[in-house]
Amino acid sequence: MAIELSDRFGRVHTDLRISVTDRCNFRCAYCMPAEGMQWLDRADVLTFEEIERIARVLAERAGLKSIRLTGGEPTVRARLPLLVEKLARLDVDLAMTTNGATLALIAHDLRAAGLRRINISLDTLDRDRFVRLTRRDELANVLEGLDVARSAGFDPVKVNVVLMRGINDDEIVDFLRLGRDRGIVVRFIEFMPLDAQGEWSNDRVVPYDEILARASEHFEFEPVARGSSPAERFRYRDGSGEFGVIASVTEPFCASCDRMRLSAEGQLRNCLFALRHVDLRAILRSGGTDDELLAAVAGEVEEKWAGHSINQVHFIKPSKGMSQLGG
Ligand code: SAM
Ligand code: SF4
Repeated sequence: MAIELSDRFGRVHTDLRISVTDRCNFRCAYCMPAEGMQWLDRADVLTFEEIERIARVLAERAGLKSIRLTGGEPTVRARLPLLVEKLARLDVDLAMTTNGATLALIAHDLRAAGLRRINISLDTLDRDRFVRLTRRDELANVLEGLDVARSAGFDPVKVNVVLMRGINDDEIVDFLRLGRDRGIVVRFIEFMPLDAQGEWSNDRVVPYDEILARASEHFEFEPVARGSSPAERFRYRDGSGEFGVIASVTEPFCASCDRMRLSAEGQLRNCLFALRHVDLRAILRSGGTDDELLAAVAGEVEEKWAGHSINQVHFIKPSKGMSQLGG
């Protein structure tokens, strides 16, 4: 039996984000406390075989078209290329989001294993700021990872920049120049209220309009058709590539959202801000059938709400932070 993962508003779900680990080698101030989190026990984390089974059932029987590996930091999961190899056999677009610190070491292996696309998260080009933001002195390694990813054949390489007022909002033009010089697609992301320290506030968000205004003081560009991407895309008129803005807070893309999220311990959520989940690991480890897995996912997707309500009085911050949800 093949099904469509459609919710009660008619949105069909074809994109799965998989956190392959909750662990991370960084401690970004907007994502994790300095001391890290209480990591999951290894036995609680889905095995590669369990991840593959969920992905296979959804790809073969429920129209799954894309998978993004995330974390925590996906590259800290041992033998990651093995998982990539398994998932690359499915007929899906396979991508990964990483902090880039160890990418120079494994980019070629990941590419050879079948990874197609890569996004690197980088919020500042200033070394001291980088240390303050990530609590790690790894900027040089991330920049090297970026170049190695390109030479390994990832094209385009995308860099995701979370903009925060008073922290890095003076670097918009520097990032655009980096993108133009290195052939990278830079995408600015609005800061979201999922930070572990609870420091988010509305005035910390650098809104979409302001990002575009700043960019237009220096460059000429025009909009590109958006497709199913959450990013508004813009193409430089002089042919030097493109950049994007993901306005998750000021202009949410919930109405066209097609994403599901699988946490490292096998909880499937229908939204980054969901207050509920279904436990797929329990189904897998109690001998559940593929039909049961499929029914559980379909039921969770069906229950999806119209959209998140950041900035409204009834918004409830989920108990899990961004590093546990995968971003
Ligand atoms: N460790 C990997 C990385 O940093 O790319 C993957 C996981 S990380 C949670 C995924 C994405 O979430 C990153 O691009 C990160 O910048 C973003 N992120 C984390 N906290 C955020 C927040 N409070 N608001 C917006 N984006 C956030
Ligand atoms: Fe780790 Fe990514 Fe969170 Fe930074 S944003 S602490 S790299 S999971």
